[in-house]
Amino acid sequence: MEEVIIVGAGIGGLTLGLALHDARIPCRVFESAAEIRAVGVGINLLPHATKELAALGLEAALAKVAIATTDATFFNRFGQLIYQEPLGRAAGYDHPQFSIHRGDLQVVLLEAFRSRAGADRLLTNRHCIGVEQDEAGVTVTFSDGPGGAARSSVSGSVVIACDGINSAVRKQFYPDEGEPRYSGVNMWRGVTLWKPMLSGASMVRAGWLSHGKMVIYPIRPAGADGLQLVNWVAEIETPNYRRRDWNRAGSLDDFIGPFAGWHFEWLDVPALLRAADHVLEFPMVDQDPLPRWSFGRVTLLGDAAHPMVPRGSNGAGQAILDARALTAALLEQADPVTALAAYQRQRLEATTRIVLTNRTNPPDAILREVFQRTGDRPFDAIDDVISREELVALSEGYKRIAGYSRDALSR
Ligand SMILES: Cc1cc2nc3c(=O)[nH]c(=O)nc-3n(C[C@H](O)[C@H](O)[C@H](O)COP(=O)(O)OP(=O)(O)OC[C@H]3O[C@@H](n4cnc5c(N)ncnc54)[C@H](O)[C@@H]3O)c2cc1C
Repeated sequence: MEEVIIVGAGIGGLTLGLALHDARIPCRVFESAAEIRAVGVGINLLPHATKELAALGLEAALAKVAIATTDATFFNRFGQLIYQEPLGRAAGYDHPQFSIHRGDLQVVLLEAFRSRAGADRLLTNRHCIGVEQDEAGVTVTFSDGPGGAARSSVSGSVVIACDGINSAVRKQFYPDEGEPRYSGVNMWRGVTLWKPMLSGASMVRAGWLSHGKMVIYPIRPAGADGLQLVNWVAEIETPNYRRRDWNRAGSLDDFIGPFAGWHFEWLDVPALLRAADHVLEFPMVDQDPLPRWSFGRVTLLGDAAHPMVPRGSNGAGQAILDARALTAALLEQADPVTALAAYQRQRLEATTRIVLTNRTNPPDAILREVFQRTGDRPFDAIDDVISREELVALSEGYKRIAGYSRDALSR
């Protein structure tokens, strides 16, 4: 097969590059940024995604830089334990859940791609501004950066747009779609070097969105000083937000209020927030699911295809699953147009369900239930508020929809 052109060297684009290389399908990756810097904060990879990364021979490299998360633990805003369940290998999966710095994940993928496929297979400073196709192939045009004039072009057999939530290729097919849809929740994120809390590999969700919710989990193994890099996200319902920019600095004063009294036995939350070296602010956004991703020789993958609100730890994972499905389709179908249509059939409906469920009933629905049933007051015993069976059902329901229930994965 002629070359596959991958637009974007994020999590989806690099995973696709590795999977295609593994399948001996020639490809090149074209990235807008002048150099790939380890940007972002924490991200979670659930067992369905780590299974695919293990198949690409990356588990050992990831284990060195990530935390193999052992449990999900839910508290109310008074620090009372609502629910705890094991995760990843601790829950009997064949593969771990990794909590990892997005930059560390990107570096593992990038180094593997460069060393396996060759450094010349990844070109930076190539900002895609449009694609054209005919019976014989596709041509992608690049500028030096957003708003720049056309500077170069490349031709190949198919184009896979892995260019993230503001995808230029998606805009070409859906010019009237408009800006990403604000969920009503703004986020402030940061990382702090801190001593291990709870199991040292716990993913904590606490509080509720209307009064302030926190997600906290370590993302790097402890150093010689015993401190771990801990990722935290403050999520608060507010009509105020600014356009998503992954690097926008936020201010502690804008969000610390609701968490000022969160001095718990297991963690002093305001102290953790104050010790962060900087704060990032971005709105929680997604887009309505699309009816179609594949247009002849062009298709969308990852956030370009199905941006979702980050309430189910599934954004990176679903991009990784897309990469695997697309590679399989290109291997199975001699005709690239048929392959892209088959990929869409396999992934569009599945990811649509996740996008919509993340809006309504992601794992933190557990917190909402307890918040509503207690009228946001402390409880004497959690069993008086909600049964263990109901809590398990809420958690398992999401796993089934997002495709990582243990039974489905071992099948
Ligand atoms: C800088 C950055 C920081 C992020 N930080 C976090 C975080 O802290 N936590 C979290 O949960 N998620 C974060 N994300 C999003 C997360 O990586 C994605 O939700 C998920 O991994 C899906 O990956 P993706 O490959 O589809 O998109 P992304 O990982 O967003 O990758 C898209 C890639 O395409 C490139 N690109 C964009 N436009 C063009 C263009 N026109 N031409 C060529 N290349 C283009 C981008 O520079 C980027 O490298 C971040 C994304 C970015 C780009």
